Amino acid sequence: MMQTRTQVGIVGAGPAGLMLGHLLHLRGIDSFIIENRSEEHVVERVRAGVLEQSTVDLMHEVGLGGRLAAHGMRHEGLYLAFGGARHRIPMAELTGGRAITIYGQNEVVRDLIAARTGTGRPLRFEVEEAGVRDLASLTPSIRFRSGGRLHEVACDFIAGCDGSHGICRPSMPADRVHVYERTYPFAWLGVLVDAAPSSDELVYSLHDRGFALFSMRSPHVTRLYLQCEPDEDIARWPDDRIWAELTTRLQTSDGWAPRAGPITQKSITRMRSVVVEPMDHGRLFLAGDAAHIVPPTGAKGLNLAMADVWRLARALEAFYRSGDETLLREYSGRALQRAWRAQRFSWWMTSALHRAAADNDFDYRRQLADLEYLVSSRAAMTSLAENYVGTPME
Ligand SMILES: Cc1cc2nc3c(=O)[nH]c(=O)nc-3n(C[C@H](O)[C@H](O)[C@H](O)COP(=O)(O)OP(=O)(O)OC[C@H]3O[C@@H](n4cnc5c(N)ncnc54)[C@H](O)[C@@H]3O)c2cc1C
Repeated sequence: MMQTRTQVGIVGAGPAGLMLGHLLHLRGIDSFIIENRSEEHVVERVRAGVLEQSTVDLMHEVGLGGRLAAHGMRHEGLYLAFGGARHRIPMAELTGGRAITIYGQNEVVRDLIAARTGTGRPLRFEVEEAGVRDLASLTPSIRFRSGGRLHEVACDFIAGCDGSHGICRPSMPADRVHVYERTYPFAWLGVLVDAAPSSDELVYSLHDRGFALFSMRSPHVTRLYLQCEPDEDIARWPDDRIWAELTTRLQTSDGWAPRAGPITQKSITRMRSVVVEPMDHGRLFLAGDAAHIVPPTGAKGLNLAMADVWRLARALEAFYRSGDETLLREYSGRALQRAWRAQRFSWWMTSALHRAAADNDFDYRRQLADLEYLVSSRAAMTSLAENYVGTPME
């Protein structure tokens, strides 16, 4: 067996694991990142695309804001569409200048991998049989197989950044962990389209046929979503049906509609909310989707992952600088506070904008009344805006 030592072993090279590795590098702390998928898979998978203000600020602070500044699309508002009309929420005006930026998760991951590679610190893709051991001791370790050989990395700490299907969370003793979970009775059918976006800002729509979202990834690529059945068979959605449904649900009486174009990718995303409490066990600390999953409506998943690792890096820095474990002990409680706030907001956005099979006409009219109130009250719009652009990480 090949044996190595590091300070922080990181399982998972998604946004959480890669950003943690970079934050630790900037503080002079060594880390070893392992990932079970290929580099190409990690970069190419299509996921989130909305960065909160604090995620954008963090990318700049860690020296990785160059491509983001050049290619990211800053949005100072968003639209809510219902009853055939679009209503703009001026987010920046309502939040003292905070905004969101459209920059695909794959671009964030590309930037982080380039930074990691530049440091020369270990980042191993396509590892197999990863496992974590001795979590409650002062010398936890990671084992994995790579290039046909078994490896063991002795660590001071392990960061479980391995997403919702990883191995870290299941390694915590079941009787010490509580998993809060809610599954929603619908899913999203998402498409990527080769067409210039027909709106400069996102359009969230509630229609009596269900939710739809108009979004984008770049000045040439539109990203659209439709509420569908949770067990939807994507084969039942030829392109013509998708366009008919998107147009019906999104077009508004001012003449606006999404611009059609070739669909280059289709996928179904099921929707659930999960929170794992606590987010630590001994010397294992969970971060990102390994600890919490939000329905994508509020665009919080990637941003929460970034906030977690920002907090964890700060706590590890304090430990290595002075041996002070206070921030490490506070990590789970503070991260959960932010996670629950994001859960509340994501649940609210989802409930306000989707139609459940169990809902009747009363529920739909109540949803419309809720949205009417929202767009007519500066206080209600401010609440939406400050949650959507996100609060500072502290
Ligand atoms: C299909 C999908 C679509 C999404 N769409 C949106 C969206 O439209 N909008 C939005 O806001 N958010 C979306 N999200 C959420 C957002 O992408 C996540 O919140 C974000 O990726 C969290 O980052 P993370 O690093 O915590 O987890 P991940 O990005 O999941 O990274 C975890 C990494 O750990 C690796 N890993 C897992 N097991 C192991 C193991 N045993 N050993 C080594 N490595 C392992 C995985 O391969 C992965 O690379 C989506 C998520 C998914 C899964």
